[in-house]
Amino acid sequence: MTDTLPRPLDSEDARLVLGRAKVLYTDLDGTLLGRGGSLLTDVEGRPDATAAKAVAMLNAEALPVVAVSGRNVKQLRELARLLGWRDFIAEVGTLRVRDRGAEVRYELGDWTPGLIEETGLTPYEVIERSGAVEALLAAFPGKLEYHSPYHTDRLVTHALRGEVDLDAARGVLGAFELPLTIVDNGIIRPMRHDLVDVRHVHAYHVMPSGVTKVHAIEADLAERERARDDAIAVGDSVTDVAMAPAVALLVLVENALEQAEVREAAAMHDNVVVTEGKAGHGWAELAGAWLRARAEASCAIEPE
Ligand SMILES: [Mg+2]
Repeated sequence: MTDTLPRPLDSEDARLVLGRAKVLYTDLDGTLLGRGGSLLTDVEGRPDATAAKAVAMLNAEALPVVAVSGRNVKQLRELARLLGWRDFIAEVGTLRVRDRGAEVRYELGDWTPGLIEETGLTPYEVIERSGAVEALLAAFPGKLEYHSPYHTDRLVTHALRGEVDLDAARGVLGAFELPLTIVDNGIIRPMRHDLVDVRHVHAYHVMPSGVTKVHAIEADLAERERARDDAIAVGDSVTDVAMAPAVALLVLVENALEQAEVREAAAMHDNVVVTEGKAGHGWAELAGAWLRARAEASCAIEPE
C-alpha cells in the first residue's frame, strides 16, 4: 500500500488559506491536550505551557475557536469557561452549543424528525432502550466496555472504549430499527480498564447514523454567516479527518499519523496538512502560523 503523507503546515497554499481563515474548529484529546487530557502537559505527560500560551494568543486576537469533541455538554461548558471560548460542538457532532449552553441544538442525522419530542426522552435514553449497546457489548466480550467514568451525563452518544472491527460492530447495530452507527474517536490511554488482549484502546461512540462533524460545522458556519473558505480545523483521529470537506484546511497534529487509518483517510482529501509537533505543540504551531498568515494577508491588502 502506498501512503501519501499530507503536506506540511508551512506550505505556501496552506499559508494562503490561513490568511483568510476566521474560525478554528478543534478536537481536544490528542490534539490540543497532552497526556491525561491536560492542557498543561505535553504528549509524554511532562509539564508544558506551549498549548496554553497558544490559546491565549488566539484569544488576544478575538479569533473564535470552537471545540469539537466527543465530550458531553457539562464537560465542554467548564472547559470553554477555562479556555475563554464560547461555543462548542459536543458528543461527536450531535449537539451544537452557543454561549456555553445558552442554546443547545440536537443534530440527529437519519432519525425520524420529531422522534425525540414524541418520546419525551433524550436521544441517549432512546438508544439505551433500544438494547443496541447491550447487544454490542455482548458481541465483543472483553473487547468493548463503557468509557467509565466519562460515559455519564450524556444527552446523545454512548461512549465506549475498546478495540473492535467497526464493520462487524455496525453489522450488530444494523439489526436494530433505530438508525445507529459506531464511530472511532481515536486512540486513548485510559488510567484503567477491564479490556482483555487489546493492542490499542480506542474511544468509540454509538450514535445516530447520518450525523457527522461536517453537518455540525456547516450548521455552525451558517449561523456565523461564514463559509467553508473561512474555516479551518485541527485534529488527530479519523473522525477529525472527516471534518475536511467542511473546512478550507484540515490540520493534523503529527501524532495523528501514528494511526494507519488516519493516514489512509487523509490521503482521500486534498486539503489536509500536518504539523511537525505532536498534540499541543502542533496546535501551537497552527496558532502561530494562523496569526502570521493573517498579519501577512492584512499587510498585503493595505494601501501603499
Ligand atoms: Mg482526538
